[in-house]
Amino acid sequence: MSRPTKPPRSWSWTTTLLVLALAAGTTRCATTPQSSPQPPGPPPAATLTLRVEVADAGDYRIQTIRLEDYVRGSVPAEMPLAEGDAAVADRLARLQAILARTYALANRGRHADDGFDLCSTTHCQVYRPPDQQPAAVARLVATAVDRTRGLIINDGNGPIQALFHADCGGHTSSATAIWGGPAPAYLAGVRDSVCVTTPRDDWRLALNRDHLRRILNTTSDTAVGRRLDQIAVVSRDPAGRATRVSVAGEKHLVVRGERLRAVISRQLGPRAFRSARFSVEQQADRILFSGQGFGHGVGLCQTGAIVRARRGESVDAILTHYYPGTWLEPHPATAAQPAASDLRHRPPITRR
Ligand SMILES: [Zn+2]
Ligand SMILES: [Zn+2]
Repeated sequence: MSRPTKPPRSWSWTTTLLVLALAAGTTRCATTPQSSPQPPGPPPAATLTLRVEVADAGDYRIQTIRLEDYVRGSVPAEMPLAEGDAAVADRLARLQAILARTYALANRGRHADDGFDLCSTTHCQVYRPPDQQPAAVARLVATAVDRTRGLIINDGNGPIQALFHADCGGHTSSATAIWGGPAPAYLAGVRDSVCVTTPRDDWRLALNRDHLRRILNTTSDTAVGRRLDQIAVVSRDPAGRATRVSVAGEKHLVVRGERLRAVISRQLGPRAFRSARFSVEQQADRILFSGQGFGHGVGLCQTGAIVRARRGESVDAILTHYYPGTWLEPHPATAAQPAASDLRHRPPITRR
């Protein structure tokens, strides 16, 4: 399978995501590619399927999977469901089912050049065949998928790019601030006073200066040369994420904070350098990064969504908070019969 390894010439947030997601391999985050090619006109519900590249005993096979079966396989792979309260677990499963379905429909054909629609890794959405799930999880998820059957998040232009991440650290970011280029209004970023009420897992990463230099030199757009003198945050977005970072050495570069995260994560794994919401401290022979949150910070914050679900907020209210100006409705190409409690048609609201 051939996948891009270099940024395309046109460097917008949608195209950037494709490359960054490959590089970062972040857990629990949905990313989006170039403008999503969709087939002309929706197919009838009975034939709505996805071609998914599925890992199988160390190999990869392309499987044709019905949309709702794909959603069943994605939900527990992307959302922790081990809640003591069955009602909360059900709420989270329904929330993630809507996210998974929306994302899949918005991104059908993302891997068209590779001969399938979606891969089954964090590059698109994680998918594991439902028959591999423990029985209790499978029952919970099957019920949640049935109750939300066909339901998607819409902004008036069809299924949205339902991006999500593990933990925003207090404020989600605009897709434009993180990746550049224009972004839809529902990805402009919102305050999240809820995720920060959980025990914080702020992160720290100390890297030997020469080790960091070698990491930066693995990619042409961050290559600093034979010397690394200093790294400093030049600008931040309103959410506190580093948008421009100065990298001074033999060469002097300015890179996006998210790009720096992607390059380091590709070498050290997704848990080492968890977010672009970080500070830098120069020390004698090393550079110390410390930050909050986990993931790109755009769209829905899963930590915040979990707290909201525990507090009794509805799926609809949670989605409306993180994707303002959107609403839930059945996708026309699905046999949508969602439970009435999940379906609240609403006009777009004014973006905060
Ligand atoms: Zn993919
Ligand atoms: Zn949050």
